[in-house]
Amino acid sequence: MERYKGKSIFKGIAIGKIKFYFKGKQQVKREKVDNIEAEIQRYEQAKEKAVGQLNALYEKAVQEVGEASAAIFEVHTMMLDDDDYNDSVHNIITSQGVSAEYAVATTGDNFATMFSEMEDEYFKARAADIKDISERLITVLSGGASGSDIGEEPVIIVAEDLAPSETVQMDKDKLLAFVTELGSANSHTAILARTMNLPALIGVEIQESWNGKMAVVDGYSGTLIIEPDEDVLASMKARQEQDRATRELLSQLKGKEDVTLDGKQIKLYANIGSIKDVAMVLENDARGIGLFRSEFLYLEKEDYPTENEQFQVYKTVAENMAGRRVVIRTLDIGADKQVDYFKMAHEENPAMGYRAIRICLDRVEIFKTQLRALFRASAYGRISIMYPMIISVDEVRKIKTIVHQVKAELDAEGIAYGEVEQGVMIETPAAVMISDLLAEEVDFFSIGTNDLTQYTLAIDRQNSKLDSIYDSHHPAVLRMIQMVIENGHKGGAWVGICGELGADTTLTETFLKMGIDELSVSPTFVLPIRKIIRETNLN
Ligand code: PEP
Ligand code: MG
Repeated sequence: MERYKGKSIFKGIAIGKIKFYFKGKQQVKREKVDNIEAEIQRYEQAKEKAVGQLNALYEKAVQEVGEASAAIFEVHTMMLDDDDYNDSVHNIITSQGVSAEYAVATTGDNFATMFSEMEDEYFKARAADIKDISERLITVLSGGASGSDIGEEPVIIVAEDLAPSETVQMDKDKLLAFVTELGSANSHTAILARTMNLPALIGVEIQESWNGKMAVVDGYSGTLIIEPDEDVLASMKARQEQDRATRELLSQLKGKEDVTLDGKQIKLYANIGSIKDVAMVLENDARGIGLFRSEFLYLEKEDYPTENEQFQVYKTVAENMAGRRVVIRTLDIGADKQVDYFKMAHEENPAMGYRAIRICLDRVEIFKTQLRALFRASAYGRISIMYPMIISVDEVRKIKTIVHQVKAELDAEGIAYGEVEQGVMIETPAAVMISDLLAEEVDFFSIGTNDLTQYTLAIDRQNSKLDSIYDSHHPAVLRMIQMVIENGHKGGAWVGICGELGADTTLTETFLKMGIDELSVSPTFVLPIRKIIRETNLN
């Protein structure tokens, strides 16, 4: 039994086998093999397994995002069957006497180069698919996990680092916990772990040799225990049981109102990153969705999601929430959320760079596509739209002009849409300081304390070295929240918090006393916060 310390980013206990997650581009060594026949056999078996994974992914994607988006997995299956590709792999194994991993890596590189040099845009784009299937094969051959295929049994994922796009593609049912070496407590991957309700540790010095071993992730003490002994297992199981009992106690609050002892109603909503999270929202009885990070829709894909694909997702979420408010944030790409097909140039300072509303106001077609999908979906439920990273009234006016055009187009096409509340995120000090002016322009504010802390304290939220001084309780941040609430109310806008600070139960009473109208938190925090709201007296 060995213990390794890290930093906990979500509490809870997970017990299970470790699956080592290999990064997109794996380092494959040129290894010689003795038995060529066996190596070819190994390749054929890996291919069969990869086809099985792709079929499963196709079925899942059809359910979740529709047939058009799922088609990519069919294309990958066809590529795995391509004679030229397979001949090349066989040939390299046979003629050079090397491992299947090496033959696949070489073939993948050769084919990807060939495709990327073609004139035709369609074939050019296939280079990425070739890399993808090759990575999949190498992962199967080396027994690790990659992308959304993490095996059949639920596992503890151990990785050097995880990007939000990688985390979001994993199948939640197959995950017990995350353990990474890099990453910060305020990154989007950490936020996703909390949304998925999974114990997670960062800053652990990981070892590949752990792959397949039994382990415990103790999110209370921030410890990873490899091959725990009987005593440790028993005490961890007891702690899991205790957690279950607490959850059961909290579940008695389902169906109860979010009202303080003196009668103030609070909007207690949940944050989501994808359609899959709606089940958690309903299970935890949130009264609405206060932040749907729509950019994850873009992160999951290999090309821009079409208007119809987006419409289907927004419509389904709105319908599932059955009349409860769903606040959808428009695309907040950039900084740590990078999408290849946006082809963004390298930036020295991406958190302060070309991101979020800045991209949308520059590449207006992308923005319009999303707005059309949102307004169309608003005919099927109670959708509100919120704009991220606002710094000026001018931006809001520009947005309004574009919204006006989109509505006029829909009117001309005879397409129905509903009443849509519009709000802005307050996540820059600039937005705080002009919140009195912004309040005149919008229906609501949602304070994004993750970025507001980053920009106010000048601390990169991605930098794990600064985790200890990234302090959302800093008086500067708390005073800003108070100011935004007051200015919002004076201008007739309701005010909420959708950053992680909204789920900090040590501050719930403070926020309520400041006059907050809404708190939007990871689904698992809804009931603990409901408990505090119901025990608070504002008089
Ligand atoms: C925030 O900045 O607080 C926020 C909710 O947005 P994100 O974490 O997605 O940047
Ligand atoms: Mg933000």
